[in-house]
Amino acid sequence: SNIFFRPIEKINAVVESYPKGIAGFKRYTEILDTEPDIADAPDAITVDSVKGDIQFEHITFGYEVNRPILQNLDLTIHAGETIAFVGPSGAGKTTICSLLPRFYDVDEGRITVDGVDIRKFKLESLRKHIGIVQQDVFLFSGTIRENIAYGDLHATEEQIWEAARRASLEELIRNQPEGMDTVIGERGVKLSGGQKQRLSIARMFLKNPPILILDEATSALDTETEAAIQQSLSELSIGRTTLVIAHRLSTIRNADRIVVVNKHGIAEQGKHDELIAAGGVYSRLNQMQIN
Ligand code: ATP
Repeated sequence: SNIFFRPIEKINAVVESYPKGIAGFKRYTEILDTEPDIADAPDAITVDSVKGDIQFEHITFGYEVNRPILQNLDLTIHAGETIAFVGPSGAGKTTICSLLPRFYDVDEGRITVDGVDIRKFKLESLRKHIGIVQQDVFLFSGTIRENIAYGDLHATEEQIWEAARRASLEELIRNQPEGMDTVIGERGVKLSGGQKQRLSIARMFLKNPPILILDEATSALDTETEAAIQQSLSELSIGRTTLVIAHRLSTIRNADRIVVVNKHGIAEQGKHDELIAAGGVYSRLNQMQIN
């Protein structure tokens, strides 16, 4: 399931009621950056830069009263580390990741970034440091340039091209009759799933957040596209704290640490080889995926 669906859906509804084009585009960004669901504390702070150390301390959370999904969960993630969350469907991998940008607030415990409780950040300031790449890429009707620049509205033309290049989009854009000015979406060129994902990766290179959440696609792309996207994603994750909701063996193997989540919480964690040697839940999951 896709937990980021709810806020995005809300934004779409708002966007529909605004004029298209750059005015609508600006409005849109404002809305995403100041998601009003959770109010800032009166003394909330703006943090200009973060390293990306993340700590989940005794987290209890449920979507409904008396039905906790996470109970007393502890997890420390070091700045720059890539963590792959694996485990059965419904275990709570997506839920854990959704608490970090505060799509929901914890019931008990706290989450810190660089030692600061995330509820102390202005929401806008917190989310500025977090990038999300997900399977249902969010693009709007506008030009390719606008869609990439959404990652940083102050980006120069050169920076936009650089982001496109790093996401392996340069050739595609150059092959369009109108290049960067090509309109995509309902009124323009339709992009394939893989192309949309690359566009969202370009956007992230531009946004350049120290913390990244990757919600890996469950639906299969063709092998070539898949490999190209994995390559861009691993480049994107360099030097950033990366939380991957993982479905692909290749990503899992390359993670600094694998965190196995089941309905009781974190079942085990470690590197691929360590977990295989331990012969626990992960080694059984791994067997199932291979065979
Ligand atoms: P998957 O691999 O299928 O994406 P997951 O491990 O990411 O699964 P979650 O999506 O975090 O699991 O779901 C954990 C539990 O929370 C599930 O029982 C799910 O039904 C429930 N859940 C998820 N989102 C909501 C929501 N918005 N409202 C109520 N319950 C939810």
